[in-house]
Amino acid sequence: MNRNKYKILIIEDEENIRNFVRAVLQAHGYQVLCAEKGEDGRMLFESHGPDLVILDLGLPDMDGIQFIKDVREKSKAPILVLSARSNEMDKVQALDLGANDYVTKPFGTAELEARIRSALRNSSRYGNPGSVQPGRGSKGKLEIDYDARRVFVEGREVKLTQTEYNIVVFLVGKTGKVMTYAEIIQEIWGWNGPGSIKKLQVNMANIRKKIGERPGDARFIHNELGVGYRISVEEENHY
Ligand code: CA
Repeated sequence: MNRNKYKILIIEDEENIRNFVRAVLQAHGYQVLCAEKGEDGRMLFESHGPDLVILDLGLPDMDGIQFIKDVREKSKAPILVLSARSNEMDKVQALDLGANDYVTKPFGTAELEARIRSALRNSSRYGNPGSVQPGRGSKGKLEIDYDARRVFVEGREVKLTQTEYNIVVFLVGKTGKVMTYAEIIQEIWGWNGPGSIKKLQVNMANIRKKIGERPGDARFIHNELGVGYRISVEEENHY
């Protein structure tokens, strides 16, 4: 696949990280735009319409969270957040506001490139393979019969409860994006009360067991600790 046409905007005030990310992207043939400040990033976003934004949350002139809010009012361009390990709440807030994914600093070349590829592939601008269609659909090793509400793994039916089925369909529809606990709970149960996360985790554990994934050996459903879950078919193909 020729990815040379993809234009990526990096907004990051730390020079080392900005240069590292730029070098990685250029080596992979992406066009790269760079901004040190949020306001410059906003101007570049407006004038160049990048295909993807890599955003540091801690910027000198504004909170990266504000940038996400502003962009999401008018654009669905994927946003990949760079965050420090200590700021779990920031990650969750960024995802809830519409960021597509995050990478925790320090990160390696392979991880960054995989996340970018995944975000671009799932971007609605280039077709939305994650959207729920009537009839039958498949995602990685999973096949879903939407009419009959049945799920198959490699041709074998997996008996899911109604709640488990709803979770699977919701996550499959958001393939590639990290869905936070709150987003999933809101979608599935409609309200978020005490014990909701535990209830979700129990359901997720059952789903993973039923589709044949062991903890630590997940190829399809990825547990983002303390944040949420992501379904990824990209990594299945490449790792
Ligand atoms: Ca920073």
